[in-house]
Amino acid sequence: MLRLRRWLYVFCVSGPLLLAQAPDASKFSKEVQQYVRVQKPKVVLAHVRVIDGAGHAAVDDQNIVIEGGKITAIQSGADVTAAKDVEVLDLRGYSVMPGIVGMHNHLFYVARPNLDSRWHGNEPLLVPQMTFSAPRLYLAAGVTTMRTTGSVETYSDLNLRDRINAGVLPGPHIDVTGPYLEGKDSYFIQMHQLASADEARQFVDYWADRGVTSFKAYMNITRAELKAAVEEAHKRNIKVTGHLCSVSYKEAAEIGIDDLEHGFFVNTQLDPGKKPDVCSEGEGVPTLKAMASDSAEAKDLIDTLVKHHVAVTSTLPVFESGGMPGRPPLRQAFLDVLTPQAREAYLYRREKPAKESTAVTPVDSTDDDWPMLIKRDMELEHAFAQAGGLLLAGPDPTGDGGVAAGFGDQREIELLVEAGFSPVEAIKVATWNGAVYMGKQDQIGSIAVGKNADLVVMKGNPAVKISDVENVEIVFKDGVGFDSAKLLESVRGRYGEY
Ligand SMILES: [Zn+2]
Repeated sequence: MLRLRRWLYVFCVSGPLLLAQAPDASKFSKEVQQYVRVQKPKVVLAHVRVIDGAGHAAVDDQNIVIEGGKITAIQSGADVTAAKDVEVLDLRGYSVMPGIVGMHNHLFYVARPNLDSRWHGNEPLLVPQMTFSAPRLYLAAGVTTMRTTGSVETYSDLNLRDRINAGVLPGPHIDVTGPYLEGKDSYFIQMHQLASADEARQFVDYWADRGVTSFKAYMNITRAELKAAVEEAHKRNIKVTGHLCSVSYKEAAEIGIDDLEHGFFVNTQLDPGKKPDVCSEGEGVPTLKAMASDSAEAKDLIDTLVKHHVAVTSTLPVFESGGMPGRPPLRQAFLDVLTPQAREAYLYRREKPAKESTAVTPVDSTDDDWPMLIKRDMELEHAFAQAGGLLLAGPDPTGDGGVAAGFGDQREIELLVEAGFSPVEAIKVATWNGAVYMGKQDQIGSIAVGKNADLVVMKGNPAVKISDVENVEIVFKDGVGFDSAKLLESVRGRYGEY
């Protein structure tokens, strides 16, 4: 009862949506308050290096002034005196970049029942909800806005979004994606299987009425179902992305899809034996193998995507995966947040014998050609961006190879640098580009006067050494600074459970 009253208080006093105005930190729940580190009405980030997210060179020694949740001034570095309502952070040796806009950021993980060291397990593969841990990990890593990119517990995700906005729970701003738009013969037992184009329309209408703000098509959808869903979503100004297989990238572009997930890994146009409306056995890998970035097919595809304004979401961490040689050592902080079971599954994955079937994931990172495929995809993503395509970033934290919420968002930026982007360009892909895709570039995505103070403060200089994006200490969301280490600590040993 006490609990209920406190919740009612929060909802009545602050209203269910605080998105538009700056949250008054005093209205945060006790739970959220624990993670708040900076909350004075006026905050000055003094002597900080600014990486603006718009792709400009980093500028050393700046002062950023935050008032009412907004950036109100950016000036040359100067000493400022703290006062009753003014907090001054001396950030010499630190950098600040815009909050990450994570575009493939799930609120679930993957469970493989009875997984053993041969990477054998029982069906069905399940994706348990991470409603507690994932939002904390995202915020701790610097993600201030995210798209769920497919939901399995859609009501949980919608309520989570609203409770975060109301200050009841910690986490980023969330674009809730509806349940997957999937066709028949799905291997995911938690997905509904559409039977017709009419049903696809009904599905979009139902979930848009419940409050979802994006949709994602999946591997077995037909062209007719995809077309119906895209038309219905566009009537409501809602965008549709897809992790496709049954429909090729070019077909989806012609249909009017807005975004394609997983870089160029899941385009099936050159897969042998590909039949219309049916997912091919190779799930896009043969096409990637066959499509050099300077080939006529690649050029034609990229031209088609750019002409139709189709974005592409890079999800390199999920493909980097454990078990691939030459990859960086494990991050202890990442292992620390996993449950013992999730940690074991991840370590099994790293030690997975070559050529063992993954049973549930045909995409096999121990394939001999895998390093070549990653390189090929990186080249295509870079060529797409060079050609004027809108490249987005997200980690796809589904447990394959140990990609986790938040940690994966940082790793994605590092891998974009490996793909040939400069550090400030890679940061732009992960911040500004996502904001542009969401139509929120006037509020978020870069550091400029008048924008929401969604900012990531980290030690070091990622403009020179990109792995410094891992050194996050404070994450500002609407002008309130959250303590990254405290958020991580609250999740210790929990990710993979709830
Ligand atoms: Zn995904």
